Amino acid sequence: MEDIRETVQKVVRQVILEMLSAEPDALDQWSTSEKGRRPLVAANWKMNLLSADARRYATEIEVPEDNGVEIVICPPHILLPVLRRALGEETKIRLGAQDMHHEESGAHTGEHSGAMISDAGARYVIVGHSERRAAGEGDEEVRQKVSAALATGLRPVLCVGELLPERQRGATLQILRNQLTLALGGLAAPAPDPDDLVVAYEPVWAIGTGKVATAKQAGEALAFIRDRAAEIFSHAWAERVRLLYGGSVNADNAEELFGQPDVDGFLVGGASLDPAAMGAIVTAVHRARAAVESAGA
Ligand code: PEP
Repeated sequence: MEDIRETVQKVVRQVILEMLSAEPDALDQWSTSEKGRRPLVAANWKMNLLSADARRYATEIEVPEDNGVEIVICPPHILLPVLRRALGEETKIRLGAQDMHHEESGAHTGEHSGAMISDAGARYVIVGHSERRAAGEGDEEVRQKVSAALATGLRPVLCVGELLPERQRGATLQILRNQLTLALGGLAAPAPDPDDLVVAYEPVWAIGTGKVATAKQAGEALAFIRDRAAEIFSHAWAERVRLLYGGSVNADNAEELFGQPDVDGFLVGGASLDPAAMGAIVTAVHRARAAVESAGA
């Protein structure tokens, strides 16, 4: 009996010591908002900007002092180390990549593995962007990339979204269901930590077109995605996972879109190329977050 008690005490002590000594990533420390999830604004530079632009961007972007909104910039792979250096060690801005190869290494000319991307400074990686799907990337490849990203310690930002004809014939939710099931279904056991995965709803007809989805359209699609995530994993998991809207977001429409209960932030393309415009979107989300919180107080 005495032995068992001693063993239990030892284990409890060990667990407490480990909990106290575990060093949480400072950028993951934030206060709980009304939605219970930390807002995230991610910039997708696509195939734009050069190293001098990246250095200038790092000095010009203004971000709020606190950790209320997480900011991620996804430059072309080749600019990751440049941006990392230019932002410096103390930065609150995180980096992401725009794609990765699902294999660890091998004869894949021109590709980058998750480990390489991580080594270059990325914490996130966009997976399944519609521009890559349009260039031939299939659901199976997307699934492999999500899985490989998680295995490498990268946080995938999984992009899903319907084409205009699909919306016009009322197939939006079916498309989202298929894309989510094919990308995430195989991850069900064990489920990844919901903090390590992000899903971006990006209606293809809204990307780079200036034609933003209405707040209602974005809200409905993201509510559906959260429900589907609950079916795949669990209700508690789905309540924690962050969902983004992407498609012609700017500082003028960000606040209204963020007002939707399931919009936790944005994936921004065109507007993110200008550090002032990106900063203005982050500020709008900051303001909207405060508004959501005071409404719930
Ligand atoms: C994107 O490419 O992910 C995107 C949302 O682009 P834009 O903001 O330019 O529509």
